[in-house]
Amino acid sequence: MTEKLYLNDAYLKECDARVNKVTDRGIILDRTVFYARGGGQPGDSGTISFGDRVVHIDDTIKEGEDVLHISDDTSGITEGEFCKCNLNWETRYQYMRYHSAIHLMDGIFNNMAIKTGLITGSQIYADRARVDFSVDNFSQDIVLELIEMVNKAVEEGHNISVKYLPSEEALKIPNLARTEPGRELIKRLPVVRIVDIEGVDAQADGGTHVNNTREIGKLSLNRIENKGKNNKRVYFTVG
Ligand SMILES: [Zn+2]
Repeated sequence: MTEKLYLNDAYLKECDARVNKVTDRGIILDRTVFYARGGGQPGDSGTISFGDRVVHIDDTIKEGEDVLHISDDTSGITEGEFCKCNLNWETRYQYMRYHSAIHLMDGIFNNMAIKTGLITGSQIYADRARVDFSVDNFSQDIVLELIEMVNKAVEEGHNISVKYLPSEEALKIPNLARTEPGRELIKRLPVVRIVDIEGVDAQADGGTHVNNTREIGKLSLNRIENKGKNNKRVYFTVG
């Protein structure tokens, strides 16, 4: 199993580690700062250094309980070798800002008086994020009002923290998981990781987030894509 250091400190940019396994797709370490793709957040890129040799990591994914650092430059690397991980931090920090922005948007949308639907999905990119709405009587005005409310919460500077709860307790909190697969997952986990935006939102989540909503920056609507009568795809950027 790979120890996922990013779960408890999203700001770690590097770490020492040891090779557990080398496969034809990449490298598995005993510990890592590289986030493994999931929950709408892309996998990290960066480098793993073995002394003077620098191996470029293009993407990072989960493989069971392990984290696989994807690279086609793994020849000669052997189990037990010591190495140093270095994240492509600028891109990762963008992912963190967008991930926190999406949670903030979701939390605020769920409490909006004019809400007549749900946020059904999201995807983070380095320079934008996408949020899928399934809403009756959808209009651009709803999105603009939502973004204005999110920007207010960004400026208010809410702390964002990670806490852990036994799944029995987590299941009692309404809205902790907003989808049926999410609720099923909570039931199967002994302990649930919760990302809490003070006073605004709490969600079961495995992603990396900024420490305070101020770090997100100002959101701007980018474009809205029509995906059906009630289904709209909203792209936004953070400044
Ligand atoms: Zn999330």
